[in-house]
Parts: sequence; C-alpha cells; structure tokens
Amino acid sequence: MKRLIIIGGGLAGSEAAYQAAERGIDIILYEMRPEKQTAAHTTGDLAELVCSNSLGSNDSISAPGLLKEELRQLGSLIIKAADETRVPAGSALAVDRGLFAKDITERIAGHPRIKLIREEFKNIPEEGPVIIATGPLTSDAIVSDIIRLTGKKNLYFYDAISPIIDADSINWDRVFKASRYGKGGDDYVNCPMTEDEYNQFYNALMNAEKVSSHDFEDARYFEGCMPIEVIAERGKDSLRYGHMKPVGLINPKTKREPYAVVQLRLENRFGTAYNIVGFQTKLKYGEQAKVFRMIPGLENAEFLRHGSLHRNTFINAPLFLKDTLQFKNRDDLFFAGQITGVEGYMESTAMGLVAGINAAKLIKGELFNPLPKESAIGSLISYITTTEPSRFQPMNINFGIMPPLENRIRNKDEKRRFIAERAIKAINTWKGEYAEVH
Ligand SMILES: Cc1cc2nc3c(=O)[nH]c(=O)nc-3n(C[C@H](O)[C@H](O)[C@H](O)COP(=O)(O)OP(=O)(O)OC[C@H]3O[C@@H](n4cnc5c(N)ncnc54)[C@H](O)[C@@H]3O)c2cc1C
Repeated sequence: MKRLIIIGGGLAGSEAAYQAAERGIDIILYEMRPEKQTAAHTTGDLAELVCSNSLGSNDSISAPGLLKEELRQLGSLIIKAADETRVPAGSALAVDRGLFAKDITERIAGHPRIKLIREEFKNIPEEGPVIIATGPLTSDAIVSDIIRLTGKKNLYFYDAISPIIDADSINWDRVFKASRYGKGGDDYVNCPMTEDEYNQFYNALMNAEKVSSHDFEDARYFEGCMPIEVIAERGKDSLRYGHMKPVGLINPKTKREPYAVVQLRLENRFGTAYNIVGFQTKLKYGEQAKVFRMIPGLENAEFLRHGSLHRNTFINAPLFLKDTLQFKNRDDLFFAGQITGVEGYMESTAMGLVAGINAAKLIKGELFNPLPKESAIGSLISYITTTEPSRFQPMNINFGIMPPLENRIRNKDEKRRFIAERAIKAINTWKGEYAEVH
C-alpha cells in the first residue's frame, strides 16, 4: 500500500496524519520547525497555537461550538487534546497551549505508523498521495511551487474580511434595496445616512480601538483591501467618495440621494446573511459592534463574522479544489488547513480531518462520500469549493454559511438549536456510512 506524505505539522497536518494513520496508512510528516521557524511560531512543537489560546465558543448552539462537537463525534485528535488540556474560560474552550502542543506532538511522534521528519519541504512531490498543510505562513520555497500549480494571481498573502450580518437582524424599515443607477436590479441593500449621521459615524470610527499588527504584518495594504479606518484617515470625505458614495442611489422615502450610503451585499444564496461592502477592518470586535451599529438599519445587527485583515497564505480554492479537498487536476494531491481558505484553528483542523480521511480512502481504493451540507464541516467545504472565485475570501464557521431550516423559526436560539441538532445527526450518519475507523 502507498504511503502518504503530509507537508506541515500544524493543526491540519497533525490531524490529517492521525486520521490517516488510524486507518492503517503509513505517513511521512514533514515539519520544518524548529530548524526553520515561521514569523509567528516560537517552538518546535506540532500544532503550536500562534496567537490566542482560546479555540472559541464551546456552546453547542453556537456555530464554533457545533464545529467542535462535530470534530468530537468524528474522533479528532486536536479536539481531544484540547478537551484534555482545557483551562477555565467561561463558555469558550481555551487550552494550556504548552501542554496542548506537547500532547499532540507526543501522540504524533509516537504513533507507530507516522514518521516525523524535521525538514522544510521545498517541492511538491510528483508522485503522491500528498497533503499540503503548510498554513497561513507557508514557507517561501514551497510557495514558488504552489504558484506553479495555481498561477501567481490565485495564491494570496493577505485576507481582507468584511463583517457579515444576520439578515434577520437588519431593520428593514430603514434601508432600501437598489443597485447604483438602477443597473442590476435590487441586488444591494442600502443604509442611507444623513450628514449628521455620517459625521457621528466618522468620528466614532476615527476614535475606535484597533488591533495592533504583528511585526510581519506591516501596514502595506493593497488599495483593494484597505481597512475602512485607514481610508477614513485620509480625510472626512474619503469614505463618501469611496465605499460610502451615494451617487446613483435614490432613497424611495425621500426621493433624493442620501448624504452617504453603506451597502450590504448578499453573502449566501439562502438570503440569510449580508456582508458590509468594503468594510474590511482592524477594529477590535467590540468596537466593530459599537461603531457599525451606528449605521442606520444596523442598530441591532447580529455579527455572524467580524471584519479582519491579516497575513495569510491561501489559494483560490473554488478554482482548484473538489469537495474531497483534492486538487482538481491531480487526484493524489490534497490541500488542508488554512491554505484552503478556511479561517481559524478549528476550521483548519476540520480540513485536516477531511483530507486525512479522504487520502486514506484514496490509498485503499475506497469510494468518496462528500460531507453532508447540513453539517458545519460540510458547509465550510461547500463554501470554499462553490463560492464565486472573484469574490473568494477566507471564512470561519458561522450560521450564515449553513443551509437554513425548511420551516422559518423566529426565535434565534431555537433556530440555532435545530440547525445544530440537524448537523450532528447528519455527521453521525455520514460517519456510520463512511468514516468509521476499521
Ligand atoms: C499571526 C497569526 C495569528 C493567528 N491567530 C489566530 C487566533 O487567535 N485564532 C485562530 O483561530 N486562528 C488564528 N490564526 C490562524 C491560525 O494560524 C490558523 O487557524 C491555524 O494555525 C491554521 O492551521 P494550519 O494547520 O493550516 O497551519 P499552521 O498551524 O500554521 O501549521 C502549518 C505548519 O506548516 C509548517 N510549514 C510551513 N511551510 C513548510 C514547509 N515548506 N515544509 C515543512 N513545514 C512547513 C509550519 O511550520 C507550521 O507548523 C492566526 C494566524 C496568524 C498568522
């Protein structure tokens, strides 16, 4: 039987190695640390958490909590280590980062089917199967080789993420649907601002607290993904002549162009979520809620995802990946982790789990069976493989990317509980039919 090469021993690579090894596959796992460090890692441990020691909410009716529960049901190594090294953090799952990484390193290095090699891997092997799980700080050497596969314009080094709002939380009485100059139907939701409202919003934005950048994330922004607050620093009217320009948008209530407009664009085909167009930002999450709720129509906005902007290496996955995480032109090449365009520790782990299971299936000549779309993991895969490529930006798990319930339920908690129950049921059916370890 063929062995599996995995490049990168972070969260995704470690999870993939464990899943495939438990299915009887011999693994060679390459990790370049500690010989060669990234700009954010500091140890030689596998699955080192580079920033927060919190893996996010553990509440089973939150989207991050649901994702964790699905990983538990599927026997994830990473979530097991997290549960065992947990530190008190309210409803969040936070870990003792040292113990967490040591635990995973010991289990991987001590696994009889895994050979761990501490070496930078520079060229994608011609002969697979191979999983690339080199993460948001993929080393330069292998970047050149990935570009050979994707072309330069389809491998990105920064993500610029606008907040996403729950459609049910928009005050529909204050907004209007229209496209600029009436071109393109009613595709955009417009939040009109008076001069007073604009001035207050501008001042709040200028005074809001920002997240500081890491050294290697210095403020060299591309014009197209400039944070909203950096544009605002150029002058009071800079936003009114940019993302918030009102021209060609007539408010049906006043029959006039507003002083400024914030536009919302549908985020999914279900109509349950909207993103705030051009509002990528480095404002702290609490500040985003405070400042963006000053936008007329968004007073009660529920944020399904906050905005952000940081260093990240990821491919334009909808162009290149199948729903098995195989490269479209090469069945024996898989991508896993943050490089697939998911965002976050648990999301990356989930992509490692799926790639590991599917690579093992490929080697054993078994059939693939995509994850159910009702599950959090299946929804992430659906997002990264079916989003319109020109609009593709990394995504963390949130209810906005999951299919809505057939029956509309107004109570938010009840709705989320039903979605979570449906997801766990679907995951267990999938596991029973496809992903049990034999
Ligand atoms: C500065 C920073 C802060 C972040 N903070 C958070 C946060 O607080 N919360 C959150 O959820 N997410 C955060 N993220 C995102 C986080 O990094 C990912 O969610 C997660 O670590 C991705 O897992 P991964 O396995 O894809 O990559 P990683 O965990 O980074 O693992 C990739 C591994 O590949 C190795 N590698 C790279 N190139 C090669 C090569 N050529 N050969 C061999 N090995 C190689 C690296 O050394 C690394 O160990 C942050 C990212 C960055 C860059």
